[in-house]
Amino acid sequence: RILGLGDLGANGMGIPVGKLSLYTVCAGIPPERCLPITLDVGTNNKKLLKSPTYLGINKNRVEGSEYDYFIEKFMITIKKRFPSAVIQFEDFANKNASRLLKKYQPTYRMFNDDIQGTAAVALAGIITSMKITKQLLKDQVLLFYGAGTAGIGIGNLFVDALIELGEKKQEAQKRCWFVDSKGLVVSKRKEIKYEKQKYAHNHPHLTDLTDIIKQVKPTILIGTSGQGQKFTQPVITALSKINKHPIVFALSNPTSKSECTAEQAYNWSSGKAIFASGSPFATVNFKKEIKYPSQGNNVYIFPGVGLGSVLTGAEKIPKSFFLAAAKTLSNIVSATELEQGLLYPPLDRIREVSIAIAVSIVKKAKSEKLLKMSIPDDIKSHIENYMYSPKYD
Ligand code: NAD
Repeated sequence: RILGLGDLGANGMGIPVGKLSLYTVCAGIPPERCLPITLDVGTNNKKLLKSPTYLGINKNRVEGSEYDYFIEKFMITIKKRFPSAVIQFEDFANKNASRLLKKYQPTYRMFNDDIQGTAAVALAGIITSMKITKQLLKDQVLLFYGAGTAGIGIGNLFVDALIELGEKKQEAQKRCWFVDSKGLVVSKRKEIKYEKQKYAHNHPHLTDLTDIIKQVKPTILIGTSGQGQKFTQPVITALSKINKHPIVFALSNPTSKSECTAEQAYNWSSGKAIFASGSPFATVNFKKEIKYPSQGNNVYIFPGVGLGSVLTGAEKIPKSFFLAAAKTLSNIVSATELEQGLLYPPLDRIREVSIAIAVSIVKKAKSEKLLKMSIPDDIKSHIENYMYSPKYD
């Protein structure tokens, strides 16, 4: 499932090619060390199946055990052929993404960017927001509008961050509330999928977002529903009544699916909102003040995580690497950027970000005894020496 475009069959190839270009541009991974792969398991896209020029396998998608067997064979073969490869999973359908991550994460050098990259960039934004609101992470109440791959991934990493701060897992989970297409995720609902069950609260079932905000009293509202314009004026107003600085992350892409625009978030919160989105928004003039919306782009995370993971030789990519990446990304935001309300550094600092993340991952790998390569004390120079630069003498 490619972004909002759905099943593109083998025509999804542009995604790995594009992502790997970002590894090279943003983290200096040498291009000859990147291999874009699309797993062609057929397509259910009728238009493609009828097209005489479609280059993929002309069959419906394989599902169930046949699909799982294919993925297993792919993973075993890749590890055998390229034992040191880092494998990034991208754009797997909701029903496969979490379970495949759970299956392969403990023994393969792999991660799922839609789940873990998104989670880390959102957590970084939340940590940076705390520097603006002068609040503590452990006191936050998160309300997710959308309980799919992205939303649950962010919730899980937020819980891990609180556990690292000494909170109990169950207490941390209680700080996350989810709304899906059927309304608030509560324990009395019978059909709740496994990943959501731990976030099902003992609370009456509500469906109206404004009512939910009034009752749950979130400090942070995160949109990961893929549904545009759901953070309406009453929703943002209700959130602003509870919070001096309401934190609004409208992460759905593309711009048309964003739960609200930057301008709406600022206008409806009397300029108080701290706003981040998935798609970029221009600066907003609010009563003669310039407001700088932030873009929670995964590119802040995955190239650096990939770079660090390659260099450590660690046999797996644990969630602690993503926690380290989130904290590092937050720490790199300068005082001036913070004053402007920016949650992330500008993208022209991306190589600096990726190097800092890679350094933090090498340190993490060392402390967790996952380091399999010898790395000199000057980690940063070692990383910089490895990085490819498009300079020709
Ligand atoms: P998904 O299909 O896995 O999940 C969507 C969720 O939204 C589901 O829980 C669904 O029940 C819920 N939903 C659907 N309609 C709803 C409604 N009317 N009200 C409430 N909930 C509703 O999708 P995903 O992979 O989690 O992606 C969700 C969105 O997040 C996409 O738009 C994607 O572009 C965006 N995203 C952004 C970033 C980023 O900003 N860095 C990263 C990843 C995904």
